[in-house]
Amino acid sequence: MRLTLSDKKSLLLDELRDEGIEDEKILAVLSDIPREDFIPKALRTQAYENSALPINSGQTISQPYIVAYMTQVLKVTKKHKILEVGTGSGYQAVVLAKLCRRLFTVERHLPLLNAAAEIFKKLNIFNITTLFGNGMKGWPEQAPFDRIMVTAASEEVPERLLEQLKDGGIMVIPIGVQGEIQYIIRITRNGDDYSEENLLPVKFVPLLSGIVHDS
Ligand code: SAH
Repeated sequence: MRLTLSDKKSLLLDELRDEGIEDEKILAVLSDIPREDFIPKALRTQAYENSALPINSGQTISQPYIVAYMTQVLKVTKKHKILEVGTGSGYQAVVLAKLCRRLFTVERHLPLLNAAAEIFKKLNIFNITTLFGNGMKGWPEQAPFDRIMVTAASEEVPERLLEQLKDGGIMVIPIGVQGEIQYIIRITRNGDDYSEENLLPVKFVPLLSGIVHDS
C-alpha cells in the first residue's frame, strides 16, 4: 500500500515526538504547514522524510527534526519579534511566524527570497517581512529582537547579531568550520553578558557575506 503525504506527515510527527520534540504548539504548526510547497516538485514525495533536501541556488531546506529542535530551544512566544538569517525555502520562517508576533527574515540569494515570499502570500502568512541582503549585519532598522535564529553555519557568532539581541533575548546559531562538526549554540543575553550553551552536532550550509542576484 502506498502511503499518502498525509500518512507520511503523521509518521514524521510521531518520529519527532520520539526524538524529544515535546512542545505541542510546535508539533501542531508542523502538522499545519505543507512542507511539500517549499521544495522542488521532483522531490515532493520526500517532503515528509526526516531529512534535509536540496532547494535552488545550491542551498538546502533543513531537516524537519532540526527545524523543530531549533524552534523548541529558541523558546518562542506570541509576543516575540524574531530575526531569521537565511530564509532559504521559507519553511523555517513560516514555522516561526505561526508562533511569534512578527518575523523578519534575511536572505542573500534573491531568487530564493522571491520564491519564499510567493509562498508566504499563498499560505496567507502576513507577519513576515523579508530583506534581500547579508544577514550577518542583522537588520539594524528593526532591532532589537527578542529572538534571533541563524540557519547557516558560521565560524564565529557575528558581532552585529549579538548587538541586535534584546536584553534577556535568545539566539540560536550553528557554529563551526565547514566539513567539520558544527554545533548548534544557544546564546542568552543578560545585559552585556552573553552565556553560551553547546547543544547539538549538526551540518549546515555556510553563512556567507555578499549578495547573489541570480541563481
Ligand atoms: N531556513 C532555511 C534554511 C536554508 S539553508 C529553510 O527553512 O529552508 C540557509 C540559507 O542561508 C541559504 O538559503 C543561504 O543562501 C542563506 N545564507 C547564507 N549566508 C547568508 C547571509 N549572510 N545572509 C542571509 N542569508 C544567508
